[in-house]
Amino acid sequence: MKALNSLLAATETTIFTVMSALATAHGAINLGQGFPDTDGPEDVIAAAAAALLDQRNQYPPLAGVPELRAAVADANRRFYGLAVDPAREVVVTSGATEAITACLMAVLDPGDEVVLIEPLYDTYLPVARLLGAVPRLVRLSPPDWTLPRAALAAAFGPRTKAILLNSPMNPTGKVFSADELGFIAGLLQRHDAYAICDEVYEHLVFDGHRHIPLMTLPGLRERVMRIGSAGKTFSLTGWKVGYVTAAAAIAEIIAKAHQNLTFTTPPNLQRAVAVGLAKQESYFASLSADLAARRDRLAAGLEKFGMRVLATHGSYFLIADVSALGFPGDDVAFCRHITEAAGVAAIPVSAFYASGPPENYVRFAFCKRPEILDAAISRLATHFARQSHAPAALTGAK
Ligand code: PMP
Ligand code: GLN
Repeated sequence: MKALNSLLAATETTIFTVMSALATAHGAINLGQGFPDTDGPEDVIAAAAAALLDQRNQYPPLAGVPELRAAVADANRRFYGLAVDPAREVVVTSGATEAITACLMAVLDPGDEVVLIEPLYDTYLPVARLLGAVPRLVRLSPPDWTLPRAALAAAFGPRTKAILLNSPMNPTGKVFSADELGFIAGLLQRHDAYAICDEVYEHLVFDGHRHIPLMTLPGLRERVMRIGSAGKTFSLTGWKVGYVTAAAAIAEIIAKAHQNLTFTTPPNLQRAVAVGLAKQESYFASLSADLAARRDRLAAGLEKFGMRVLATHGSYFLIADVSALGFPGDDVAFCRHITEAAGVAAIPVSAFYASGPPENYVRFAFCKRPEILDAAISRLATHFARQSHAPAALTGAK
């Protein structure tokens, strides 16, 4: 039989699914795939339950229910001072994952160049390639992941159509600074390019850092697509409700992509997310404060037995350099090993690179209950205490 789509056939199952399955198989604490271990706000969940029972279970409007589009527009004004027309400038999607694909579809023609920043989230590259676009990769370097301005400028050229920017960034926890965003803005204007901004962690920012949407910079309102996710903002990752804010002319094309991907998103969940976006400031503030405390708890625990934890200012991930533990293998082997032998799953950071990745970094999710974080630390500490003088024996038992 004829070969199936070559790009998809060559795409591996996402590392998040692979590591979650391994964690389940070994009864490991799952600090790999990023999902909280407690559900989001009760009032939002109750709103979804009520919305299932009031006779609005047929196809909602293509671009989203009016309640959620209005709530997204209001949130843009409230948090960032952006004036958004809910009827023409908001498109609701089935998760940010669909939003990313829909935005790339809306912008890219085959042969267009798209600038991507490594380490990168795992859907960016396959989707860009499926669309026939040419990825131009720019790499950030640990430990501080500063934007390499000369390399970024060199990645832009006459065929550049767009940049895909993730801030706050998975897996690094980097929050792009006003200065870095200003530099990117200059490139976009100079090269007449668009920006697709994956801002799913917009409300998970710590230590006085501030998330600045690129869309708020002078002159960029018409060039930027801003993506949010209810899964992250309300700790309801299974709901898959995302939302894009963009100028009407762009939103119209994104809606055409959405029409051909999923067409609509469950109306009940959309209405509940509208309730969530209207929550008081204290909800958003405590989300960040609570996560920052969990980050500190996990980081302190990991550092006690030799991991070097890099600073993380946003998202719910931290990266640890595991070189000092003397493990005789790369990050992929390390993550398999700790899942199987120590009972704690994590994600190898090399999964966020297209090629030639660093092999000594591991990502841990800290969006878990404090007692679960403590249990994970204790399992790892016990394991490495046994192993620390005999690194060659690290493939041993629990
Ligand atoms: N972008 C980034 C950077 C992510 O980490 C995730 C993780 N879920 C997504 C997009 C996808 O979000 P959603 O679950 O809303 O599709
Ligand atoms: N965004 C989540 C992470 O980075 C995972 C989402 C998924 O499994 N596709 O861990």
